[in-house]
Amino acid sequence: MSERNLLMIPGPIEFEPSVLRALGEKTRSHLDPVFMKAYGRAIKRLREVFLAPTAQPFVVAGSGTLAMEMAVANLVQPGDKALVVNSGYFSDRIGTMLERHGAAVTHARADVGSVPSAAEVDTVLATGGFKLMTITHVDTSTAVLAPVKELAAVAKKHGVLVVVDGVCSVGGEALEMDAWGIDVAFTASQKALGCPPGLAILLASPKALATSKARTRPVAAMYLDFAEWLPIHEAYEAERPSYFATPPVNLIMALDVSLGHLVDEGMGARIERHAKLANSVRAAWQALGLRPLPMDTAVSANTLSALYYPPGVDAALVKAVAAEGVVIAGGLHPALKPKYFRVGHMGAVSRADLVTTVSAIERALRACGHPVEAGRGVAALG
Ligand SMILES: *Cc1c(COP(=O)(O)O)cnc(C)c1O
Repeated sequence: MSERNLLMIPGPIEFEPSVLRALGEKTRSHLDPVFMKAYGRAIKRLREVFLAPTAQPFVVAGSGTLAMEMAVANLVQPGDKALVVNSGYFSDRIGTMLERHGAAVTHARADVGSVPSAAEVDTVLATGGFKLMTITHVDTSTAVLAPVKELAAVAKKHGVLVVVDGVCSVGGEALEMDAWGIDVAFTASQKALGCPPGLAILLASPKALATSKARTRPVAAMYLDFAEWLPIHEAYEAERPSYFATPPVNLIMALDVSLGHLVDEGMGARIERHAKLANSVRAAWQALGLRPLPMDTAVSANTLSALYYPPGVDAALVKAVAAEGVVIAGGLHPALKPKYFRVGHMGAVSRADLVTTVSAIERALRACGHPVEAGRGVAALG
């Protein structure tokens, strides 16, 4: 396939050329002053991106799933009670992970395309004894957006730690870690942060760090232990040499460049841009008669769309769109996998990318025997 196709899946995404250039530079020593400075700056920039001046960032080699496991491994001991606010595939994943770490897990579930309400969660937490609650900010399997602020407020009322899976949201959806009382939020480099895959990124509140420190048994997985990584991150932030495990030097150089773009754009402006582009692409889907999985716009993510295939169309559409030069994703939620497709629109995404994507989907729909008027979706983009 041509290298000039357009990658519009929910991560990895299209990256800024400046980020890719940083990745391709000569690999420095992990103790090189230039690298120490970049790592330290990336750590500081993460506090700005997560709106978390009091939190401790961790950046380690791995994917979003490793960041998820780092959260679970540090906060959970066998027998702890955890509540999963379940909105789909990635909520199921953290539920399974919590169980493997010995937690007693309760799920608050909603119908596919929706998310449990703060009132429902309040009722479950009121039964007592929960140590932590997890929220999937954007469930990438359904494009459902959870009301993190409201849900976190309920958990705080019950004195329960709040863990947010922000892998498909941080850098694209509003998230105010400190103001909303979130204890751990994590993401991965390849989604709305706009850096190639390979970095697990986690921010821990002082309370989350204290919880891990107060464990009666050390974290079994040494690579995931906050206590191992804390002095390393403190040293890099102070541009002092230190070593625990070799950092992915080039990826961290690239992350620093990418976070620089986020900070320069400003988080408010960036969230607003994602909201505007998402509104415009939603109008295009509607004009094309494509029905979204999320039940209403209040629970619709701005970072991606999940859309049912129209009658008579199946997963062949994804291939037909690829033939138009645009890469989109099929379904992921096990209950509905063959019935829908997904389009990512996060990070460096532009209006031009949406014009190209909507137009490719129009043409592919026609190629799949579904008549849509040429230009109808593109016109609706506004
Ligand atoms: C992508 C994703 C993950 C998993 O991240 P990987 O980097 O694929 O391990 C977890 N949660 C959500 C919400 C995601 O979108």
